[in-house]
Amino acid sequence: MLSVRRWSVRHSRLLENTYRAFERVLFACRPLIMALGPKRVERPVAAAERVIKSLLFDCRMCGRCVLTATGMSCPMNCPKLMRNGPCGGVRQDGGCEVKPEMQCVWVEGWRGGLDMRAGGLSSALNPPVDSSLSGSSAWLRVVLEPPKAASAPSPALVPPSGGQLEQLLRDGIFAVTAEFSPPDSANPDDVYRNLGLYESCVDAINVTDGSGANCHMSSLGVAALLLRAGCEPVMQVSCRDRNRIAIQGDLLGAAALGVRNVLCLSGDAVAIGDHPGARQVGDLDSATLLDTARIMRDESRFLSGRKLTSPPRLFLGAADNPFAPPFDMRPIRLAKKIAAGAQFIQTQYCFDLEMLERYMERVREEGLQDKCFILAGVGPVASAKTARWLRTRVPGVHIPDEMVRRLEQADNPREEGIRICIEMIQAIRRIPGIAGVHIMAAKQEAAIARIVQESGVLAGRAPLFLGSVESRERRTANAVPV
Ligand code: SF4
Repeated sequence: MLSVRRWSVRHSRLLENTYRAFERVLFACRPLIMALGPKRVERPVAAAERVIKSLLFDCRMCGRCVLTATGMSCPMNCPKLMRNGPCGGVRQDGGCEVKPEMQCVWVEGWRGGLDMRAGGLSSALNPPVDSSLSGSSAWLRVVLEPPKAASAPSPALVPPSGGQLEQLLRDGIFAVTAEFSPPDSANPDDVYRNLGLYESCVDAINVTDGSGANCHMSSLGVAALLLRAGCEPVMQVSCRDRNRIAIQGDLLGAAALGVRNVLCLSGDAVAIGDHPGARQVGDLDSATLLDTARIMRDESRFLSGRKLTSPPRLFLGAADNPFAPPFDMRPIRLAKKIAAGAQFIQTQYCFDLEMLERYMERVREEGLQDKCFILAGVGPVASAKTARWLRTRVPGVHIPDEMVRRLEQADNPREEGIRICIEMIQAIRRIPGIAGVHIMAAKQEAAIARIVQESGVLAGRAPLFLGSVESRERRTANAVPV
């Protein structure tokens, strides 16, 4: 099947022309379809569609076909069901994060898109899969239900969430965020204990949501604890484990608790985590999650249309990976996320400055840096062995050979890793269009304060999370005994 799928992508223009001609025939047959009754026609048309599209595209009959917007590469073949572009885990050779033997459907789709009439893929949003349409004919739907145009307001019109991180960025101050790994514990003290490592050096703290598809305390729970401690959290929300009903409920709950910053992610695939037998949900992807949160906030309604009595005040963010293929598609994917509602972006680890500069050049050409705040991801690597492990075992992480060599030749590799991170921050700060850095220092959290201080990234200002004596006292007072 893989070879037929590849053939279809290679002949995307031919298939697009054939489909457009067929679409005209379908529209011409509309009066006949209506006379016979769409329900009677559905069965034979869906059967024919299944045979033809299964053969050509490995079609899963999702009922809402987007092949003409995906370079004739069916996104339902993506293990994470990404319908709006590649995840950040695409391997350097274009292989899929989850199934390395398969080319990423979006790497294929990007190639197919270049040959199509539009000469590339657009940044228009593909809506989430409607499970109630599964198995039905998408051909008939095109004739009977013309698609509705999605509307997204200009980010400039969005009222401020009231969050401190957003205000800082709007004020044009170079921001520093850092990542926090929730504990495998139900004891809040296990959160508070580690918080000291972030005091007086960061503006906000990202709380990961089952990172690496491993189970930990929830990001919502940890974000609420951070608020009690006087810290501004960035709650990460992944589409991996929850459907749109659960996610929308969590967004309301988080906003009610005072969480303002939400980072919308597709999430690492279940297959790579500690519960590989769990179901990969993927009801939404990162772009449709952003759109959902934006609709809740700006239109005061659920995705279903049901009204909210009080909309959530949110500052919406997304991730991007400038270092993973298809490289030319990354700025388009960024534009799509911005159109869907992203107001800030945090990137994957940056170890390759030249690549980041090339990406930012494209971003500036499109003026995207004026539509969202871009925070570049950085982090210390403890040794050459860790660097090799990261680039082979963590899909989407790109570390150039030169950096591995530098770590290898160092007398004290851990120290060298910190030095590299400091140099990286100093260089990133000079790139026009970058609004801050996001430090990911898993298992090296103790180095965050030093990295921030020696890089001079705060330029003498006080960070938002001061971790004052009062906040420490408040934290202890609020700690719930287990
Ligand atoms: S690399 Fe990511 S987006 Fe591409 S097919 Fe695999 S899971 Fe899907």
